[in-house]
Order: sequence, then C-alpha cells, then structure tokens
Amino acid sequence: MSRNESLFAAAREVLPGGVSSPVRAYQSVGGTPLTIRSGKGALVKDADGRTYVDMVCGWGAQILGHADERVVAALRRRAGRGTVFGAPAIEETQLARLILPALPGHDRVRFVNSGTEATMSALRLARAATGRDLIVKFAGCYHGHSDALLSSADSGALTLGTPDSPGVPAAWAATTLTATYNDLESVRALFAAHEDRIAAVIVEPVVGNMGCIPPRDGFLQGLREITRASGALLVIDEVMTGFRVAWGGAQVRFGVQPDLTCLGKVIGGGMPVGAYAGPAQLMDQVAPAGPVYQAGTLSGNPISMVAGIATLRRMRAPDAYAQLEQRAAAIEEVLSSAARAAGVPIRIQRVGAMLTVFFTESDAASSEPICNLEQVTATRLDRFGTWHLALREHGVSWPPSGYEAAFLTLAHDGEVVTRLATAAKAAFEAVAASGA
Ligand SMILES: *Cc1c(COP(=O)(O)O)cnc(C)c1O
Repeated sequence: MSRNESLFAAAREVLPGGVSSPVRAYQSVGGTPLTIRSGKGALVKDADGRTYVDMVCGWGAQILGHADERVVAALRRRAGRGTVFGAPAIEETQLARLILPALPGHDRVRFVNSGTEATMSALRLARAATGRDLIVKFAGCYHGHSDALLSSADSGALTLGTPDSPGVPAAWAATTLTATYNDLESVRALFAAHEDRIAAVIVEPVVGNMGCIPPRDGFLQGLREITRASGALLVIDEVMTGFRVAWGGAQVRFGVQPDLTCLGKVIGGGMPVGAYAGPAQLMDQVAPAGPVYQAGTLSGNPISMVAGIATLRRMRAPDAYAQLEQRAAAIEEVLSSAARAAGVPIRIQRVGAMLTVFFTESDAASSEPICNLEQVTATRLDRFGTWHLALREHGVSWPPSGYEAAFLTLAHDGEVVTRLATAAKAAFEAVAASGA
C-alpha cells in the first residue's frame, strides 16, 4: 500500500468518506486521493513524496502560489501576537479598504468565514430589504451549501424548487426558483410568473462550478435590467471570480454593477474567509447598524485578514493580472495543441486564471460555446476520468471532477507550463488510446 492509500484508509475510519468536503474524495474520477503534505509556488508534494503541478490551487483560493513568502511572513508576524480576540481588529479595516475601492458602488463589507455564509447572509439581507421571499438562481451555479440554495427545478421550470439533498426542508427549497444560465428568457418567464415575490437573482458572473462557463454578451446586463425593473436585487456571487478574473472581479471585467457582492477564496489568501459587500444604504441594514441579524465568533479574525491583505497588496501591482493572463493563455495553448496532436476533440473555456477542458463529440462541436448545464452534461465526461488519471501519473494534479474549473497562480511560470505540456501530451494520448 502506498502512503497515500494507507493515510486515506485511516481517514475513512474517522471522517465521512475520508474527507472534510466531498469532491476531494475523487469519487468521480476513481482512485485514491492525493494526500497533500506541502506546497510551494505552483507545486504540491503528496504523502508518497511525489511532486505535482497543482491546478486545484485550493479550489481557487490560492492566487500567488502556495506558501508565498509575503503571506507566510504576514501570518507568522500576526500569529505571534494572538489570533482571535472577539474585538475589532485593525486588519479588518485594512482589508476592507483594499476590497471596497475595487468594487464600484460598494461602501461597506461584512466579513464572514466562508463563501457559504456570504451568500446565505447576502440573501437574508436581500429578503429583508425588499420584503420579498423568493430567490432566482441558475442551474449549475453553486453558492455554497445553505439549505435554500440546495434546490433545483423540476421539469416544469416555472414551479418552485425541490430539495437537492435529504435534510433540506421542502418549504425552504421552495423559496428558490431555478433559471437557465445565459438565457434571459428563462429569467423573464420566472419574473412574469412570480412578479412581486422575487427578492433577488443570485448568479456566478463566470460559472466555475459546472466547469468554466463565461456569460454571453449582454447576459449580466440583462439581469441588471430585469431585477431593477422589478425592484429585486442583483446579487453577484464572486466567491470564485473575485480578484481572480480581474482586480475586483468579473463585475469589473464585464462592466455590470450588482446591488450586493459575495466574496471568499482569494480575499482570504488561503485562510478561511467570506464577505458580502454593497452600498451603505443596503449594508447599514445589517446588525448592529440595522435590524438584519448576522454574526460570527471568528469573523474578521486577524489571521485570515492578514493573509488576504498580503495577497491583495501583491495583486494590486500594475502587472499582476496581465502576468496571470499571459500564464493562463500559455497553459490553454499547450493543452489545446496536445489535444490536437493526439486527435482528441476538446473545447477549452477560459476566463483569466480559471479554465475547463471539455471533451466534445467532434472537432465541429468544439467550435460551439458551452453555455449552460444541459450543454455541459452533453459533453464526453466519460473521457475525463482517463485523462485525469494520466495527468496524475505524469505529475499534474488537476481538479478531480469534469464539473469543476481548474485554477492557476502567479507562480505557474514557464517551467511549470513545460511540465504541464509533457503531461498533457501523455494524457490526451491515453484518452485517444482508450478508444472511449
Ligand atoms: C466556493 C464557492 C462558494 C462556497 O464557498 P465556501 O467557502 O466553500 O463555503 C460559493 N459560491 C461560489 C461561486 C463558489 O465558488
């Protein structure tokens, strides 16, 4: 038994499925998960001492690279002076002052501990501010695991949602309506049917949680118009895209101003964090400034704050996003040329430093954008497992699900791209040889 295998076997005895979050268990690709011992820059080392180019990058939380020296130094300094006091800390204001100017129209931010908390709390505020109960979300978008958001539409798309998980009360799932991503008509139909009852539309401005799906031209602007016309709020969930696809996030890149923004991942520099932000007129309805209750023992803790501050200070440098874009484009290029050489039809969808390789039916299909969950499901996900395993054998740790985006960091330099090219060649050849 390898060390990875024995460690995972031990983990399964004490953790459900051996993990603290499901996708880490590799169930959709098979095999034993890599137990990661350490990371530096773009590389991680597993329990058997093997090194991998990391394309998981903390599911997007890492943007500078693992164990970045600025972040490590900030954490060391802060940890030596205490970690949590349950009192205001200077670092909260400092991180807020980095975040808010990057988001047009946002005056206040409330820190929480995860993306799940951020979306849950933002929607509570949206309901309070509008006096309405229903939420519109999109099939394939993920906003964390709070009850009301673990809901999906039955085939009759205008009906109220049903639970996606045992344990979610039907009544809570029924407060969520599900529309089709990139399809404004599906949103208009829900507004027509439930007009004065919709408090908010929540959307991933670039989807990462069904693979990377960019918004079509005008989609986000259309959501802005529909919500404004009805008196509902537009909540943009930038937990994944915030400070990843641009300074600020996708709302800056695509030029759309939400009423509320949810953040997480990058703004915590690898430590637990979430946040929601908006104009004073909305955010000052949150307790103790206003009546909408929301609290947290570890919220705004100085450790998460300093990791976020060190990360955003680096990303604020004028060249950071251009450099990231260049690296991401180089990775896209080596992946697509390896697929072409092996004769495996794929389509890569990428926005900045997040991307997905979709296996398509044919070269002709590869030129068609994949715009929504139905189209994702129609791709050759059956090829993903073979590809993933071959990448792993050749020293690349790719996210273990065809439904997830891959991520890179500023540390993914030319040498890393070369390693990735060699592994990608072998992986696409393995797919071609499998005959699937
Ligand atoms: C990761 C993610 C979340 C949930 O964040 P957690 O910190 O895992 O709770 C919510 N929304 C989006 C878009 C995400 O990518």
